[in-house]
Amino acid sequence: MKIRYLVTGIFAAGGFVTGGILLLDKTGQEPVPLALRAAASWMPEPMEVPTFASAAALDPKFDQDEVVPTFTTPVLTVAEIAGTSAPVIAPLLKVWSREVAAGETLDVLLAEAGLEGSERAEVSLALAAEYDLRRLRPGHGLTVETEIKGALRRVLLDVDDGVQIETVFGPNIATRVLSPEPELVILAAEAHIESSVFGALADAGIPARFAVDLAEMLGGTVNFRRDLSGGEVIRLMWREQRVEGGVIGQPELNFAVLDLGDTQFEIVWPDDGTGQATIYRDGEVMRVFAQPVEGARLSSVFGRRTHPVYGDTRMHTGVDFAAPRGTPISATAPGRISFIGRRGGYGRVVEIAHGSETMTRYAHLSAVPDRLAVGDRVAAGDTIGRVGATGTATGPNLHYEVRVDGRPTDPLSDERLAQAAKQEAQNDGAVARLGAARALLNEQLAALLAETSHERL
Ligand SMILES: [Zn+2]
Repeated sequence: MKIRYLVTGIFAAGGFVTGGILLLDKTGQEPVPLALRAAASWMPEPMEVPTFASAAALDPKFDQDEVVPTFTTPVLTVAEIAGTSAPVIAPLLKVWSREVAAGETLDVLLAEAGLEGSERAEVSLALAAEYDLRRLRPGHGLTVETEIKGALRRVLLDVDDGVQIETVFGPNIATRVLSPEPELVILAAEAHIESSVFGALADAGIPARFAVDLAEMLGGTVNFRRDLSGGEVIRLMWREQRVEGGVIGQPELNFAVLDLGDTQFEIVWPDDGTGQATIYRDGEVMRVFAQPVEGARLSSVFGRRTHPVYGDTRMHTGVDFAAPRGTPISATAPGRISFIGRRGGYGRVVEIAHGSETMTRYAHLSAVPDRLAVGDRVAAGDTIGRVGATGTATGPNLHYEVRVDGRPTDPLSDERLAQAAKQEAQNDGAVARLGAARALLNEQLAALLAETSHERL
C-alpha cells in the first residue's frame, strides 16, 4: 500500500481560522500530479490482445494502414510512469467510450456503441451479475471494445470510487469487479481550545468523532468541563483511506497530544486494528486501554436509569456496548480469568481479576472460547468472548462492568485498571512507540507551518 502524507492544519484562535493543506511525498520528493497518482493507483491486469503481427496473420484482408487504435483514455503503464522506454503494444480494437448522461439507460449507450439487440441483452445480463444496473447514474463511464471484425471483446463500466465492472467476452463470458487499492493518507492538525474540545475540533475542521475518542480515553483522568478552560492545545495525527481523492470508511486516530500547560497527555493507537491504546502522562506510561468491543456504540452509561426491561429506576452497574451478535469481545486490561459461567440476569459471563481488588465483568455473552479457562492469564486486547443477548437483555450488547472491592464503579473513569496495566506496558516498547509518534507528528506540523508561512508572503 502506498503511503502519502497529507498535512492539514487549521489553527483556530478567537474565531479567526486559517488553514493550509500540503501534499508531501514520504521522501519529500517533488509532488506527483494528482491525476498521475490516480492513474498509478489502479492498474488493470494486462489483457491478452492480438498484436499487429498475429492479427494480420489471422486476417489476410487486414490492411494495417487503415487501422487507427482509438483509445480515448490512454492507460499509463508502470514503465511509462517510471520514465523508462517500453514497447507499447497497440491493440487491434475499436474502442467506444463515454460518460453516462442524465436519463440514459445502458441499452441506449450500448446501441450507440453499435451493438446488436442480442449483444446488448448479453452485456446487460453479464454486468448485472456483479452490479445492480439500477445504480447506474450520470458521471459513470462505459467503455466497449470490439475487435476489428466486430466481435465484442470487453465492456468496462466505471462506477463509484474508482471501482470498475469488467466483462470479457470470449469462449466464456467472465465478469469481475476491479477495485482500486485504497491509498493510506496520514493527516495532522493542531487545535487551540477556546471553550470545549468539541468546539475546538469543529472549528478546526477535524473530525468531531475524535472528541468522543479523547473523552473515552481521558475521561477518567481529565475533567473535560472543569479542567479545560481555554488555551490548551490538542495535536492530532490520523489516517484515512482514500480512493481517487474520496475518503472511504472512518478516519482513525494514530496519535493525540493534549497539552494542558503543566501536564501533557499523549495517546498512541497502534496500527494493528486492535483498538488497544497506550496513554502517557508527561512521557511515562499511565495506562493501557483496550476497548471491550471495537467500533461498538456505547448504548447505556453507568448510574441510575430507568431499566429497559423492568421499567423501574435502578442502578446500572456498568456500561453497555451495542454490537451485532458474535462480535468479538476483548479484555480491557491484563489479568487472570476468575469466572466463566452463568449469573442470572447477566446471562453468560466472563470475569477477569486485575490484582486483588479490581475485577472486570463481561455479560450477556453468546459464546466463550473453548480454550479459555479459569486461572488463564490474558493481555489487554485478548478475545475472551462474543457479543450476545443471554440473561436479561433487550438485544445483543455487551454489559461491561468494573468492580473495585466488590463495588461497581464507572468503567469510563476507573483508575485502578491503569495500575494493573502499568507494569506490563512498561516492558512493551511503549516508550519507543511514543518517540516514533512524536517525531512523525512534529515533522508534519513543521512542514505545515512552513507551507502556511509561505502562503502568507
Ligand atoms: Zn448493562
